[in-house]
Amino acid sequence: MTIRIGRVEDLSLEQDTKYNSLLAAIARSAEELTSGKGWPDGVIDLMADLGRITRVSRVWIFQLIELTDDHIIQDYPFEWADRNDHVQLSLSRFNTFRKDLKHASPEYMQMLESRKRGEWQSMVVSQLPEGELKEDLASQGILSMLTIPIIVEGKWWGILGFDDCLREYRWSEVEIALLRTATYLLSNAILRDRLSAKTKQFNILKGVTDASAWELDVASGHFWCSPELLSEQTGLTENIHLSLRQILHRIHPHDRKKLLADIRQHISRFQTTFRKDLRICQENGKYVWVEIIAKISRDTKDRVQKIAGIAVEILKRKQEEEKLRTRARKDSLTGAENRGSFDKELAGQLHRFNENGTIFSLLLLDIDHFKRINDTWGHAVGDKALRHVTNILNRNLRGADRLFRIGGEEFAILLSGINEIMAASIGERIRKDIESTPMNSERLPIALTVSIGAAGVAEAAPCESIEKLYQMADHALYTAKERGRNLIVQSRQTAKQAANPS
Ligand code: GH3
Ligand code: MG
Ligand code: MG
Repeated sequence: MTIRIGRVEDLSLEQDTKYNSLLAAIARSAEELTSGKGWPDGVIDLMADLGRITRVSRVWIFQLIELTDDHIIQDYPFEWADRNDHVQLSLSRFNTFRKDLKHASPEYMQMLESRKRGEWQSMVVSQLPEGELKEDLASQGILSMLTIPIIVEGKWWGILGFDDCLREYRWSEVEIALLRTATYLLSNAILRDRLSAKTKQFNILKGVTDASAWELDVASGHFWCSPELLSEQTGLTENIHLSLRQILHRIHPHDRKKLLADIRQHISRFQTTFRKDLRICQENGKYVWVEIIAKISRDTKDRVQKIAGIAVEILKRKQEEEKLRTRARKDSLTGAENRGSFDKELAGQLHRFNENGTIFSLLLLDIDHFKRINDTWGHAVGDKALRHVTNILNRNLRGADRLFRIGGEEFAILLSGINEIMAASIGERIRKDIESTPMNSERLPIALTVSIGAAGVAEAAPCESIEKLYQMADHALYTAKERGRNLIVQSRQTAKQAANPS
């Protein structure tokens, strides 16, 4: 036995019955519309095939533009005609035409209602009751007509129509059933066209914004996103599907809680959109910054159904923001943190001490006779001296220690987890390092010294305010100056002294 093979579009249309021919034409169009030519070329071929096989005068498609209680607006985008004198497409009366429904005839309204329900209509014009519909069809030279609605995504999209101008034709049920199948092919082609238009729109959007799309089905916990969100690899097309738990797991731990709290708040306030910056872990394990722009949709019972939106890559914006934040926090001459940061950090550390007893100490440093350096060598050398001292301070500190320039030639150091005695020994090491490291200048090396006041939060207890700790360190510093400079003094000593003045 031999195997017969072939392509549907190559099947001969010379079949034994007209039903077979119709079926073959529809099968061929199905192939054409889903694989090769789509909308609109495949549609025009299908209409021509159907027209030739059914031997009608005209095959046409009306597209519904607008339908209200008052009016209907339609367009006439496609037509096939067997003869030139049957062509109507170019007539201006069919160019986006509007019909007033308030004054339409009962037959027209009956036909319209039937079309809305998705039913077909077949009529022989001579048998219609006298009236507007009959006159209208007769004026177009139509003797009989078959119309079948085209339904796309459950909505009435338009009509596929067959006009006979030379015969009064009664369509058989098999023919109607086959032609109805043809309208499903058209719906399919329209859907594919819509999809490709949307894909194009999305690709433009994606190209401009680096955006990826995503959607969370709240009830099922099913999440999908376009591949760019989670992969650096370009050219991937298939969406990635994850469970809610898996996608949450990919959000940076610092951002996850805040995101969930934010979503909950938006939902409870019935807000429909939200934006959020967050870090998401890609498949290579690296976090990327994205801005989530989302819409929350609800069902008819107001239950949250879906949260969907786009994610835009915002690394550059985040870097700019970080730069601005750093600039706002740091002193531009020395690179140490500024006075504003000091106040904030001191308050933060005191809060932590009161909450969970984490101790810390404060060192206040002031360069000795700094005015003389400016006066002798000039302001530029004074600036250089400030940077020189900053470098020495930095090399004596650990990662957790924080250095601030809080005045002209005054610095503060916050030492976390360190008591006053240890802080004083770190201060002493710094003092010695500065004393023994003169600054290089164009002429002679310039010797510099500092005076330091040290205060530990535990030693100052009960330390109810940052002012108190600051005053204790400042008083110790003042004492160091008084005692001749190039010295470190602890607040415990000055406090004792204050209690028993000698
Ligand atoms: P003491 O040992 O008592 O601290 O004496 P001092 O001269 O260091 O103290 P004083 O407060 O009298 O002088 C500080 C000087 O620091 C005065 C000011 O002109 C200078 N100064 C403040 N900010 C800057 C700066 O950014 N660059 C330079 N070059 N000098 C500065
Ligand atoms: Mg000073
Ligand atoms: Mg000084």
